[in-house]
Amino acid sequence: MFKILRYLFLVSLISLGYYLFVSEYFNLSKKNFLEREIVKKKLVEDKNEIIQQKKEKVVSTNIKKSVDKVQYVQKKIEILQGDTFVSILESLNFKKENIYAIISEIENFFDLKKMKTGEIISVFENNFGEIKKIEFFKNNETIISVNLDKEINLNIRELTKVSFIESKEYTITESLFSDGIKNGISPDILVKIISLFSFDLDFQRDIRVDTVVSISYEFDEIIETGRLEYNDIKYASIIIDGKQLEYFKFVTADGYVDYFNREGKNVKKSILKTPLDGARISSNFGMRKHPISGFNKMHKGVDFAAPTGTPIYAGGNGIVEYVGRNGGYGKYIRIRHNNGYKTAYAHLSNYKKGISKGLRVNQGEVIGYVGSTGNSTGPHLHYEIIYQNKHINPLKLKLPSGKILEGKELEKFKNAYKIIYADHLSMLYE
Ligand SMILES: [Zn+2]
Repeated sequence: MFKILRYLFLVSLISLGYYLFVSEYFNLSKKNFLEREIVKKKLVEDKNEIIQQKKEKVVSTNIKKSVDKVQYVQKKIEILQGDTFVSILESLNFKKENIYAIISEIENFFDLKKMKTGEIISVFENNFGEIKKIEFFKNNETIISVNLDKEINLNIRELTKVSFIESKEYTITESLFSDGIKNGISPDILVKIISLFSFDLDFQRDIRVDTVVSISYEFDEIIETGRLEYNDIKYASIIIDGKQLEYFKFVTADGYVDYFNREGKNVKKSILKTPLDGARISSNFGMRKHPISGFNKMHKGVDFAAPTGTPIYAGGNGIVEYVGRNGGYGKYIRIRHNNGYKTAYAHLSNYKKGISKGLRVNQGEVIGYVGSTGNSTGPHLHYEIIYQNKHINPLKLKLPSGKILEGKELEKFKNAYKIIYADHLSMLYE
């Protein structure tokens, strides 16, 4: 009997122990759970507090801003045919003496006659409808701001330019150009890609559906006007049938912006056979009856018929050694290239602004425009290639191979292209 009681006692003792253990365990875990709940809540509260603080901060800065700065209402006025700065100020009800004071102040820095129809003048009015400021663009880079508070005060400032690099990749279904436009790429950039690849590709024949184009390029945004200015291509790749053509931008030791493949080989041929687009050959190199004098004469170049104003490209990298009138050649440019080559361009209607003797030009850069100056019967480009002071037939020119980077310059290029490529990939895929 005692045995049984002892046994029962033992069992109940164990059960009690077990019960105590289990209940304590659940208590503990419940406590833990509660604690966690509290911690979680606290965090959320903190977060709310932070958000609240942030909100308050924003609100307070907003208030500060509106206290600091008088709010002006901006009105934009487009200059129409027949408008003058005076007539615009008159229409804004400025007094005569104020108009002349404003104009004479501006004229110290800017010739108002240069303003054209279609340009915008902004006026800023305060709450009482008084004009306190007039702004207009001097050019694409500069804004002129006329403050009219108490005294006239001119403020000329550079527009804010922010530089960006952008990468894009697309598959051609129609053409490099039209698919590029569909993918939001600027025509300026597409024209550059085409001219870059035109040395290796025939765009009518080589480009197929499923050709992959991958590019990165630089552009600036003018913050005040929202205008975009496209600059150099940094990287361009075209993959056709699994074969890749790749170019990287690199500024060479002699200062030319140029494009090279991964091996450091220049992708351009050193001199263009045809330094303009869409032209047809109207007279070949060699002996011919001169159309004006009637005598048989050696024609020392090739004539390309093209409409007046068609842009003419530098045939290769080089230094401009002649710009100006040159007898029967009319308006004329000559460029000195490496390796004993020169190219000459005659009968131009005009030179590209800024082209002058001693200037360094890059292949494909516009230097002038087709015309009919000098002894010429109609608009055309007379193009000469001179090798060691002898005229050679541009169409039969055996092109010397382009530049190949070596030694330290090659090392520098390899470091540069790896950075360009890594940036390109990260912009495409991140
Ligand atoms: Zn000619």
